[in-house]
Amino acid sequence: MTNRQLFQQHVAQTSPTPVGIEIISASGSYLCDVDGKRYLDMIGGISVCNIGHSHPRVVEAVQKQAADYMHVMVYGELVQSPQVKYAELLAKHLPPSLDCVYFTNSGAEATEGALKLARRVTGRTDIISCNRSYHGNTLGALAVMGDEYWRNAFRPLMPGVWRYDYNSEDLLQGINEQTACVIIETIQGEAGVITPDENWLQQLRKKCTDTGTLLIFDEIQCGFGRTGKLWGFEHYAVTPDIVLLGKALGGGMPMGAFIASHQLMQELTHNPVLGHITTFGGHPVCCAAGMAGMKVLLDENIVSTVAEKEKLFLSLLKHPAIKTIRSKGLLIAIELESAEQVSETLQRCLAKGLFSDWFLFAPNCVRFAPPLTVTTAEIISACEILQSCL
Ligand code: PLP
Repeated sequence: MTNRQLFQQHVAQTSPTPVGIEIISASGSYLCDVDGKRYLDMIGGISVCNIGHSHPRVVEAVQKQAADYMHVMVYGELVQSPQVKYAELLAKHLPPSLDCVYFTNSGAEATEGALKLARRVTGRTDIISCNRSYHGNTLGALAVMGDEYWRNAFRPLMPGVWRYDYNSEDLLQGINEQTACVIIETIQGEAGVITPDENWLQQLRKKCTDTGTLLIFDEIQCGFGRTGKLWGFEHYAVTPDIVLLGKALGGGMPMGAFIASHQLMQELTHNPVLGHITTFGGHPVCCAAGMAGMKVLLDENIVSTVAEKEKLFLSLLKHPAIKTIRSKGLLIAIELESAEQVSETLQRCLAKGLFSDWFLFAPNCVRFAPPLTVTTAEIISACEILQSCL
């Protein structure tokens, strides 16, 4: 049997039509398959590989930490320097009220932890989220996800969740003294790159503060420079009570985090003790990789190059089949006529060596979210290939 056949037989499938190319290596903006064909990667593992694939400084950090020690104990008991140093680095680059990091295994687990923390701190049960939002695929995260098609088969879901449109007055009106938290993506990703309206986040912040509701920003997809600032919320000068990180957080290794003030996080230490438990969260190799990746992002001033690259994409992407483009930095939704057209276009792109994707709640949009290190020549090439496939 070929590896592709074994993949279909023994690796649990989640799609009737997986991309199915067999990767043997990846570096920078390129993937290479088993036949030696190279693919220009316009999705970077879905906003994970912000500094490119297998950056040498990340590889070195992984190798060194794996040789020193790997898993030694469940989360929160032993002092592990990769965890401590990475938490300190994150805190240094976040607002002062976000100084305490709980490392998890994934973005979804960060969502779960943050929702638990909000209920634990406020003693309230109600949670507000947005239509067309995505916060992960575990049961709690599904309950706050904003799309009926994707969650209906898994009912009953966690009760107490109220959903409103992003950017709506209704959402602001829905917040009251029973609301434990509002969880939103600072910039909606899977909805096809939807940005907040002028002043909406400021009004949301005020309403949360006035009612004692915790504000959670999910920066799992839009954090780590993706939108042209290190954190998406910096564009709007609004600070959440809890921020969720994931994807690029691990430098290519699996990792998530929910981050709040030291004072809020202390609530997880009592009543009950061990308020959130994880065996592998904050794995030392993932922390070492993530910290090396974040240092590359900072040392090489990569975030400051994002706005120019976005402009270049927007100036080159001109084609009658493109209905509209929504973008924030290098998170770009290229809207076509239909989901079928997107699917056919993506297949033609793959044949021509361009790897891209669509959005869960906007399947009529091609997703471009390349490594932030993507070069001018690569941007030109990606736009040429895409347009030749439309
Ligand atoms: N939140 C957002 C905004 C995401 O885009 C994702 C993943 O796509 C998640 C949460 C869930 O992260 P994970 O897949 O690591 O559980």
